[in-house]
Amino acid sequence: MKKNRLSFSSVSIDPKKEEKVNVHTDASFNKTGYRTVEKKRNTKNSTFQYTKKNFKQSRNNSNNRNNQFNKINDVKVPPLEEGKIRIIPLGGVEEIGKNMTAVEIGNDIIVIDAGMHFSNEETPGVDYVIPNTTYLEENKEKIRALFITHAHLDHIGGVPVVLSRIGNPPVYSRNLSVLMMKKRQAEFPHLPQMKAHVVERDETILCGKTKVRFFGVTHTIPDSMGVIIETKNGWIVTPGDYKLDQVDGIVSKEEEKEYSIFDKAKVLLLMTDSTNIENEGFSLPEIKVHQGLENLIKKVQGRIIIAAFASHITRLAHVVKVAESLGKKIAIDGRSMKTNIEVAIEAEYLKPKKDTLIPIEEANNYPPNKVVILMTGSQGEEFAALSRAANKSHTKFSIKKGDTIILSSSIVPGNEIKVQRIKDNLSRQGVKIISYRTTGEDFVHATGHGNKEDIRWLHKKTHPKFFIPIHGNHYHLELHKELALETGMSEENIIVPDNGSVIEISSDGQKIVLRKEKVPSAPMMVDGLAVSDVQDVVIRDRVMLAQDGMFVIIALVDQKTGKLKKSPDLISRGFVYLKENQELLRQVRIIIKKSVEDAIINQNQIDFDSIKNNLGETISKFLYQKTAKRPLVIPVVLSV
Ligand SMILES: [Zn+2]
Ligand SMILES: [Zn+2]
Repeated sequence: MKKNRLSFSSVSIDPKKEEKVNVHTDASFNKTGYRTVEKKRNTKNSTFQYTKKNFKQSRNNSNNRNNQFNKINDVKVPPLEEGKIRIIPLGGVEEIGKNMTAVEIGNDIIVIDAGMHFSNEETPGVDYVIPNTTYLEENKEKIRALFITHAHLDHIGGVPVVLSRIGNPPVYSRNLSVLMMKKRQAEFPHLPQMKAHVVERDETILCGKTKVRFFGVTHTIPDSMGVIIETKNGWIVTPGDYKLDQVDGIVSKEEEKEYSIFDKAKVLLLMTDSTNIENEGFSLPEIKVHQGLENLIKKVQGRIIIAAFASHITRLAHVVKVAESLGKKIAIDGRSMKTNIEVAIEAEYLKPKKDTLIPIEEANNYPPNKVVILMTGSQGEEFAALSRAANKSHTKFSIKKGDTIILSSSIVPGNEIKVQRIKDNLSRQGVKIISYRTTGEDFVHATGHGNKEDIRWLHKKTHPKFFIPIHGNHYHLELHKELALETGMSEENIIVPDNGSVIEISSDGQKIVLRKEKVPSAPMMVDGLAVSDVQDVVIRDRVMLAQDGMFVIIALVDQKTGKLKKSPDLISRGFVYLKENQELLRQVRIIIKKSVEDAIINQNQIDFDSIKNNLGETISKFLYQKTAKRPLVIPVVLSV
């Protein structure tokens, strides 16, 4: 057993070469640079995987699922010409998440939002993914500020790491967002302090020579704001995430007033969210959800457990208020839920009486109709409070027969199976489940993003000359373009971007063009303390290991004789069970012996790199032929 756990420090990994792969210069993105790195990697790091074509090819292909590299243009983007305005969506298009947009005017670069998204099957094991900051890093001295529209993670999640890479410019946002960012920043004590400034809706900030102002928008988190950048040809406007405060299409007076600043304004460019462009009509107003939850809290007989997104602070605050007014206690469980409630109290969005909020372990001490429980885990997340309660691994709380569980959220695409599993586990415990799909009068969830008619309203209200959709998958952006055309815009005034697209508005404000060059846009992964791009060897290895496992060969060569000192050690993880494949192993050993000893004949100086290469390629191919699997093969050749 001990032998199988042989330390991998014996594998010759050259840390300098590893680092080289991670450098975010243009060179590491262009094709030539990439190949050079690959070659070095095969000889130094020595992992191999068989494909029918050839080895280098396989390494490239295995990570080109999102085709990031195919789109990379070798031509460097020239500096901005005098008088022009440059817009670069760095994240948030081609996807939902990790929003970031840069606006460059003269000598000033203004960055809007710096979001993240969680890792997926393309980035296994990494903590989260942030936008590519290469262009900003190269133009650090021009960056005047980072503006944050609101405190959802797809807008603030990347802030600490992004700031540390782009010269730590000042950050501006409204109160709650700044508080939330400070909480997040505290998790990164090794990074420089954030220079955060709270702004009000009606404030104007001077960034270099560029004026920036704001307006309030309705979203599921308080203090959401839109950003207006003033230019000589009119305003550049982005509302961030928004929906309208409306009932049956009638927009509230407050909302009308907030947007009335656009009535006489000359809007040069609108950049906005396309997330819900597929949904007809107006979005369901949050007030209906507040009413629905209130009705349920009043009429449900037994105990109520509400699972929701911790980021829906407005809704959580409403639940606390309603429960309190009915003389019920509120128990809060789940780290992000607790943090967000704390922040809401700090920002005075919520002022519960001293003893309204109780620790989760006390929830069982109250009669069922005297307590409401707020939990994380509406997406079936493995370690969230609701999951632990559902599978009875929660140490401080247990579900009782007769409880009513309200899933106050939609299912994020990709989480369907997890949510189904949690519902199954819960229903085994004799509880009633109400989800947003349960029929009935009482709504328990509404989206935070405007539907098609909300979006149309915004277009009419802001009447922009140019339009760029900046938040959503490509399909959403195209649908949004259609809507913009319906409102009377002409096609040449609309650009549908990809991440890294460089868009420019002419000096006279009459033309908008998409440049042929792109800036680097491969997502950057935050893995522990390391930040790297999608080509990272660690991630590629994880993807391969997940597919067919690994196979380690340890060969001990006697330098004097050029023969193997003993039969090579073989280690397999996630590939085949060695005990049941003795014949395969016997053949592998024969090939190794022949391969190593043949390579050494006629050599005065033993070339370990070429022996390893040869071994890796031969064994990968052999294993594929015998098993139709492609494990990651790691040859280790040691000499004595
Ligand atoms: Zn968003
Ligand atoms: Zn949002």
